[in-house]
Amino acid sequence: MGQLVTIDTNLDANISAPPPVKHYQAYRPKPFTREQREETTLLFGGLTWKHERLMQGALHNLKYKAEPLPNIAREDLDAGKELIDVGACCPTIFTTGSLVNFLKKEVAQHGKDEVNKKYVYLTAGACGPCRFGQYHESYAMALDGLGLRDFRLFLLAQDELDQGATGGGGLEINMPLSLGLIWSILCGDVITDMEYATRPYEVNRGQTDAVLKDCVEYMYKVFVDRPDHGKKLGTLAWHLTTNYFTKALREVRKKFDAIEVDRTRVKARVKITGEFWLQTHEGEGNYNIKQWLEQEDSEVTPPPVAVWLHYLMHPVIRKLEHRHSTSKHPKRDDLVLQVLERIYVGTYNRFRKALGNIPNELPDQVELKDLAEPFYHFELRGGEGHMLIGKALYAYHHKKAHMICELSPYSCMPNTMSIGSMANVVGKYPDLLYAPIEVKGDAEVHALSRCQMILTEAKKRAQAEFEEVLKKTGLTVEAIHEYEKHHPELRRATYKVPHKGYSGTSANYVLHLAQDRGLARA
Ligand code: SF4
Repeated sequence: MGQLVTIDTNLDANISAPPPVKHYQAYRPKPFTREQREETTLLFGGLTWKHERLMQGALHNLKYKAEPLPNIAREDLDAGKELIDVGACCPTIFTTGSLVNFLKKEVAQHGKDEVNKKYVYLTAGACGPCRFGQYHESYAMALDGLGLRDFRLFLLAQDELDQGATGGGGLEINMPLSLGLIWSILCGDVITDMEYATRPYEVNRGQTDAVLKDCVEYMYKVFVDRPDHGKKLGTLAWHLTTNYFTKALREVRKKFDAIEVDRTRVKARVKITGEFWLQTHEGEGNYNIKQWLEQEDSEVTPPPVAVWLHYLMHPVIRKLEHRHSTSKHPKRDDLVLQVLERIYVGTYNRFRKALGNIPNELPDQVELKDLAEPFYHFELRGGEGHMLIGKALYAYHHKKAHMICELSPYSCMPNTMSIGSMANVVGKYPDLLYAPIEVKGDAEVHALSRCQMILTEAKKRAQAEFEEVLKKTGLTVEAIHEYEKHHPELRRATYKVPHKGYSGTSANYVLHLAQDRGLARA
């Protein structure tokens, strides 16, 4: 039996009208006006507590209310995962989650309207191939999820010192602000280097941390009291020529001078490299790996933020060298940048000198590029680019560390590429100890046990070179301690041990005593 099929020929009536197209609209912050400045707190974060405290000083100096976000915690990962896209890299998830958790607490206490009025969030922005260029989009997505679309966040471009008034005039990104932030970062870096060079050898446990706190508070006040020299060239000239900061850092040195150290303790020296946020961070975002390494008998070489700022100057210089520039006067621009770079490195070196040259020098960017060149091209941008390869080889060739610990975020495109290239590097330099640690935020045991495997070998090397130098010089640890009794300056944290061609501090120390201080075998 055939079936009767009726066909409705009134097609138009069956097609419902399409929903109106809702175009994507990028987040645009509501204005933050000059009148609101006194009642509004600038939130910021992403570096160590030391850098952030000094940055807070620079902001307070300019009469901004400013507060760093609480240090990253494990719960921030969950909060970030809930609200942003699943493919985001681990630093994006952590930092977004940190802002989310802070705002949630504030909303619970004061309500949404009050939070929208009370705070703005200030973050660094960039235009690049990796997600760093889109961090703010993740924040915006999270704010949407929290129902805080009116919350204001502003980007601080990394390549302009004077960006003028932003979104309503409440925030003026001018020379005093930018220079204050950069100078606080540089001071934060050299103090952090002092800390990591001292703590593994301190005789009285906890003394370094106590002195460090005191120093950071002291430097905070130095930044709060920074004199006003106008908004343009006057302030630039003052920052470049003043001894205001070096004098303050000499005070910091005096405070560190009180710490007694024993540099005959053998430690594996571990250079930390990796993605910018992850390598800089100190906390649960990277499994507290720096603290863990110290507990495991290592001396950590932390990565200064200054290297990143130095790197940012360089691609421009090189593009000009390669004539990729659209500038009408590439040679002149090239020259200006080279002068600026020299001033920048010179300023950093003045800060190091004020701390007895204990903080490490900045690596030469051209050398980093040349070392990386056979493995990773310098124009491949994203993340730390070729620097990851360059820094590993720099530490290896100059004997600055026994091993490299590279912190790579889960789902990070640039780091995946650099780890791929490092396989080639390790093939060429099989004795380079390299521990690439993938950080997801919730796989601590796996990550630390991977690191421990390489660390075991690094410790053996540190011990072997120490024994080698004792044998070579005929010295003993007892004889060294006896000599130190008559030369107490040797046991001070501020005593500079020159690099004598060994990766470890203790081996360099023994050779220095034998060669430069005339300590001879009994
Ligand atoms: S470098 Fe990697 S981890 Fe860092 S922001 Fe870019 S994609 Fe994310």
